[in-house]
Amino acid sequence: MFWIGCHLSAAKGYLAMGKTAKRIGANTFQFFTRNPRGGSVKALDLEDIAAYRAFAKENGFGKILAHAPYTLNACAADARVLAFARQVMQEDLERLAHLPEAMYNFHPGSHVKQGEEIGIVKIADMLNCVLTEEIQTKVLLETMAGKGTEVGRTFEQLAAILARVERKEQMGVCLDTCHVFDGGYDIVSDWEGVLRQFDEIIGLESLCAVHLNDSKNPLGSRKDRHACLGEGTIGHMAIAEVICHPKLRDVPFLLETPNELEGYAREIAWLRTIRKGE
Ligand code: FE
Ligand code: FE
Ligand code: ZN
Repeated sequence: MFWIGCHLSAAKGYLAMGKTAKRIGANTFQFFTRNPRGGSVKALDLEDIAAYRAFAKENGFGKILAHAPYTLNACAADARVLAFARQVMQEDLERLAHLPEAMYNFHPGSHVKQGEEIGIVKIADMLNCVLTEEIQTKVLLETMAGKGTEVGRTFEQLAAILARVERKEQMGVCLDTCHVFDGGYDIVSDWEGVLRQFDEIIGLESLCAVHLNDSKNPLGSRKDRHACLGEGTIGHMAIAEVICHPKLRDVPFLLETPNELEGYAREIAWLRTIRKGE
């Protein structure tokens, strides 16, 4: 099944996102759990969630992706920033208990001056603290471009975090095509090889979602500037190969390209022609 969608504004609630997704040809979507650059959160609207779930069932929607705010740094040096990250993650996961269709994706964090080893330990500690028996939501580490002191640029770093997490069955990875390319993985000339590395180091069974973006910068630039599909350094051909890989048939693909809804609709329509009939 081809699960395709894009990032949507959560301002009008879940049912509104579902309807928008359907209108632009999507059968999944991503949204921010709260203001991406802040921390404030709206009251939970259980009626809206119930209405969305009925809508999603009727329309054959797949898993959706809840994205944590950028301000969440699970390996911050500052104790207050770290406490804020834990609180946000805990609260987000409690809220997502009402939405079993959602997976939770977050940027592992920036170690600032502590070094990646300490960063890795802190991120895993945070997950071990937050992931309790009551929480059923799948939690995904996003692959990062490696700008600044971001942890999660290499598959080895992600594997090292996962290895330290106790509730491994609840964890997964979201591969961002712009980030891995900027991070130095050549998905343009060797997608097969990059996936093989992912499989050897992390395990393909952990690949739970893909962020589908072109990149404004060259391979290994460590920049993280998304481009519309075909307008960047990755290009249409490589994007087509990404979505057609036989081992990724059931993985949801989410666009985070710099688009308005019409642009997303066009990209989704094009992607559907590549995965025709699904
Ligand atoms: Fe992200
Ligand atoms: Fe992303
Ligand atoms: Zn990005």
